[in-house]
Amino acid sequence: MTTVFPSASLLGYPRIGRRRELKKAVEAYWAGRIDAAALDAAAKEIQLGTARRLVELGLRGAAAVPGTFSYYDQVLDAAAHVGAVPARFGNLLDADGRLDLDGYFTLARGNADQQPLEMTKWFDSNYHYLVPEIGPETTFALTSTRVVEEFEYALANGIETRPYLVGPVTFLLLSKASDDAPAGYSPLSRLEDILPVYVELLGRLAAAGASWVQLDEPALVVDQDVPVAGIQAAVARAYEVLTAATARPAILVSTPYGALTELLPTLAASNIEALHLDVFKGAVPAADQLALLAGKTVVAGAVDGHNIWRNDLAAAAATLDTLKAAGLTVAVSTSTSTQHVPHDVAEETQLPAQLRSWLAFADQKAVEVVTLAAHLADPASSATAIAEASAVIASRATAAGVRRPEVRARLAALTGADFARSAYTVREAAQERALALPALPTTTIGSFPQTAEIRGARARATKGELSAEQYTALMHDEIKRVVELQEELGFDVLVHGEPERNDMVQYFAENLEGFDVTVHGWVQSYGSRCTRPSILWGDVTREAPITVAWAEYAQSLTAKPMKGMLTGPVTILAWSFVRDDQPLGDTANQVALALRDEIADLEAAGIKIIQVDEPALRELLPLRRADQPAYLDWSVKSFRLATAGAADATQVHTHLCYSEFGVIIDAIDGLDADVTSIEAARSRMEVVNDLEAHGFGRGVGPGVYDIHSPRVPGAAEVTELLDTAVKHVPARQLWVNPDCGLKTRGYAETEESLRNLVDAARAVRAQLGAGV
Ligand code: GLN
Ligand code: ZN
Repeated sequence: MTTVFPSASLLGYPRIGRRRELKKAVEAYWAGRIDAAALDAAAKEIQLGTARRLVELGLRGAAAVPGTFSYYDQVLDAAAHVGAVPARFGNLLDADGRLDLDGYFTLARGNADQQPLEMTKWFDSNYHYLVPEIGPETTFALTSTRVVEEFEYALANGIETRPYLVGPVTFLLLSKASDDAPAGYSPLSRLEDILPVYVELLGRLAAAGASWVQLDEPALVVDQDVPVAGIQAAVARAYEVLTAATARPAILVSTPYGALTELLPTLAASNIEALHLDVFKGAVPAADQLALLAGKTVVAGAVDGHNIWRNDLAAAAATLDTLKAAGLTVAVSTSTSTQHVPHDVAEETQLPAQLRSWLAFADQKAVEVVTLAAHLADPASSATAIAEASAVIASRATAAGVRRPEVRARLAALTGADFARSAYTVREAAQERALALPALPTTTIGSFPQTAEIRGARARATKGELSAEQYTALMHDEIKRVVELQEELGFDVLVHGEPERNDMVQYFAENLEGFDVTVHGWVQSYGSRCTRPSILWGDVTREAPITVAWAEYAQSLTAKPMKGMLTGPVTILAWSFVRDDQPLGDTANQVALALRDEIADLEAAGIKIIQVDEPALRELLPLRRADQPAYLDWSVKSFRLATAGAADATQVHTHLCYSEFGVIIDAIDGLDADVTSIEAARSRMEVVNDLEAHGFGRGVGPGVYDIHSPRVPGAAEVTELLDTAVKHVPARQLWVNPDCGLKTRGYAETEESLRNLVDAARAVRAQLGAGV
């Protein structure tokens, strides 16, 4: 049997549905509004809709359409198939040894007694996967065959898809050691035990008629803690066993998110039939490496799956020509799954036509891949399309708003002084005089619960059902309520609660030049949660103050200091689709200058404390260690550029959403913020050890209230956390605050938790006495 790999395919496709149908169905199922049969029907409709759409767009032939549907997450899917259910969940398996959909959702979401699996970022994307827990006690077995059933369903409807599974090496590398595992335990040590389950699954897929399967191994493009030789051995062994399976589909191993350097020879030496290489972000391998791939199909990820810009087809065609000239069998695909981009640019009719012409969402990327595959077969057939893409891309360079001379001149004139504030001791003294705060000052991270009324008011304002004045009045009412609540609870530094913000990035994108926002451009963040990233396409300018009137109003309601609240440049970039025609650092500095002007205006309006949130600082950290210093350099600089114009007496805060500080603690220190609030409650203040070891010398607020759960921490519990903190961080540096914003919480638990937080701060203050 010849198993020719399809000349054009995508590595993966968005699975939430064009109108977020999956999100709606899954949430309705969780809420008990629809039953399992209705959920199954909704899922099938999405799967079949996707398959038909991709065929219509030109992905023809067996295995061209990726079977990348998931109810929640692809790593959880793999765990569900191999039976990796942590012992603490008890037996989630049915009598017949299967993990059903309810069990699957339990792993994802936890239950009354059990914490769900941990969630973490999927490579350098904004997608988050669930972290499997593997220990010596894990028994691997085929506990789900959903990937087979999904394949059979599509096939019964006339489309042979390409089933997708996270590959065994990546699965184990992404897993963490279970609670029961001994210290230093490596899940990769279970490779031999997990492989038979993959072999069994491959057999089932072959029996169902699958000619190809895609095993996704992105962990192979990342620097791992394990030495490379260990990974090479694991990869060699894994694919030795899988390719030796008696009945199996042909195997495509995909390696998205960067260049497959050290592992290329290993995979080349295996008997897999096809290897995907990310030749968009990663470079085309050198000739000697390419030579190793003779006899396999090289699936060239020449179209970016991760960002939304129209592909430079001429450049991609040249890359493909290089591969072909090396004598390889070449097929065309995307660099990564297109799960990171929205479905279809054609839906965004409100965008300016020129901007739209620059964009490619998943459907447009499918067409690009088809065009490039046609080029490989017959260059003449796609010459027109390639020329058109080149012309459109060229039009970006000269289009109004893409390059603003005044922005460029300002950036060119920056000097070192623009990135530096006075010495901290000078600032500290000035701030003490200006603010006169008590020891262990209490504050919150910014947002207060976004109630249905707030969201409703914003929706009505967007539709034009509320005038701007009516909307402002409603928001003022809300701000007043939040300020009064904080006064009543006894907070020292207040916030306005951010009711006017739909999202901490989109709000700024809507108020800055150089951005546009989409209407249907949702992408999955995790599970049923989606975000709608803005598009940063041009030079960034601030035409008018953005947050000043809100902050000024809030400050007018209280004698306590009111924090001005801004989103930092790195986070604005990280959570948007960012222009690809200049270095990220340059774009970040443009955003920084806009924020710098906003800070000056906040100061002029009497705001004495300004918080610039950078929750995404760590998210954008490059996957390869060699690339990290350059990133940390520009990201830290952009924060400093945004904040260094502040007067000595103005207290600059920042907020970061995680507690694994190790790698980036120097960078965090480099931000030079006067006060840094971080997540810490869940890890029981572990981060204070890092802070102590590093000798962190400025204000720090390790979160004492885990806002990711509705649970109310008691005052005694918070006191205990603070007691731990003061053992490691001098009390005079310490702030008392929750882990993160309160936007997703309800009022009942929030009020109670905040009351306990203030009580605990007072108790610890009393214990410390006047000696602070
Ligand atoms: N100020 C923001 C808020 O409180 C910060 C959110 C975040 O860190 N993700 O909502
Ligand atoms: Zn946060």
